[in-house]
Amino acid sequence: MRPFDYTRAENTEAAARQAAGGGTFIAGGTNLLDLMKLEVMTPEALIDINRLDLAEIEETDDGGLRVGALVTNS
Ligand SMILES: Cc1cc2nc3c(=O)[nH]c(=O)nc-3n(C[C@H](O)[C@H](O)[C@H](O)COP(=O)(O)OP(=O)(O)OC[C@H]3O[C@@H](n4cnc5c(N)ncnc54)[C@H](O)[C@@H]3O)c2cc1C
Repeated sequence: MRPFDYTRAENTEAAARQAAGGGTFIAGGTNLLDLMKLEVMTPEALIDINRLDLAEIEETDDGGLRVGALVTNS
C-alpha cells in the first residue's frame, strides 16, 4: 500500500471541502482498503467520515425512505 494522508472530518462542510481538494472518502473501508492494498485505488488523502451525522433512516412524505450515507448494511 502506498503512503497516504488521513484526516477525520469534523462536519459535512469540511468533508465536502476536503473532497473538492482531491481527497477520497472512507467509510467502513470494506471495499476501499482492499483496492488500496492491491493498488487498484491509490488515493493521496483519505477523509474519514465516520463521525459525521449521516446514519439516519427517515420515512419520506411520499412513502419512501431516505437512507443516510453511513447507514450500515445490517
Ligand atoms: C468480502 C466482501 C463481502 C461483501 N458482501 C456484501 C454483501 O453481501 N452485500 C452487499 O451489499 N455488499 C457487500 N460487500 C460490499 C460492501 O459491503 C459494500 O460495498 C459497502 O457498502 C462498502 O461500504 P464501506 O463503508 O466499507 O465503503 P468504503 O470501502 O469505505 O468506500 C467504498 C467507496 O465509496 C466511497 N464512499 C464511501 N462513503 C461515501 C460517501 N458518503 N459519499 C461518497 N462516496 C463514498 C469511497 O471513497 C470508496 O470509493 C462486500 C464486500 C466485501 C469486501
